[in-house]
Amino acid sequence: MTQHKLVLLLSRQEIGEVVRRLAAEIDRDYAGRELLLVVILRGAFVFAADLVREMRTPVRVDFVRISSYPTGTVTTGGPRVVTGVRREEVRGRDVLLVEDILDTGLSVDRLLKYLRRMGPASLRVCALLDKPSRRRVDVPLHYRGTTVPDRFLVGYGLDMDQRCRNLSDIYWVQES
Ligand code: 5GP
Ligand code: MG
Repeated sequence: MTQHKLVLLLSRQEIGEVVRRLAAEIDRDYAGRELLLVVILRGAFVFAADLVREMRTPVRVDFVRISSYPTGTVTTGGPRVVTGVRREEVRGRDVLLVEDILDTGLSVDRLLKYLRRMGPASLRVCALLDKPSRRRVDVPLHYRGTTVPDRFLVGYGLDMDQRCRNLSDIYWVQES
């Protein structure tokens, strides 16, 4: 059986500093406006909960969920939106898409197209973590927390088979 060892990558203190910096950048850019945060389930729920509490900008919060076909499936078409938001809620608003980690970029690319069709006043992307080495599509990242190496990460919302989301720090998984 494969043994997993968790190796600390980012401590809760380091994550806290990154989240506060992102909140300050967002507050500066959206001063005097109201934001709709669209949070990508499930991984980004911990990050989003901390982010909104560091922000001063008034926010509305909603959630989207995406499912990707298993790799190897012929009928790909990429990730599908399985839980969406209402058009009336998005139209004319300043929207910020909130993601835990930007990996291939396929999920964010799909969601940007989905949200853009609803006619937001503006549409930007915030991701706590960025794994640029894995990118397959070019997506804008307006608010980048920190760049991480090409390793499988868990904790702070990120799971391994639905576990480890509740860890307060971020670890990479070493197989031995
Ligand atoms: P995408 O490849 O579409 O950019 O990312 C899709 C999703 O894969 C992310 O939202 C995240 O939930 C998941 N993901 C990407 N890299 C990792 C990782 O290192 N660990 C975990 N737990 N999930 C990841
Ligand atoms: Mg995710």
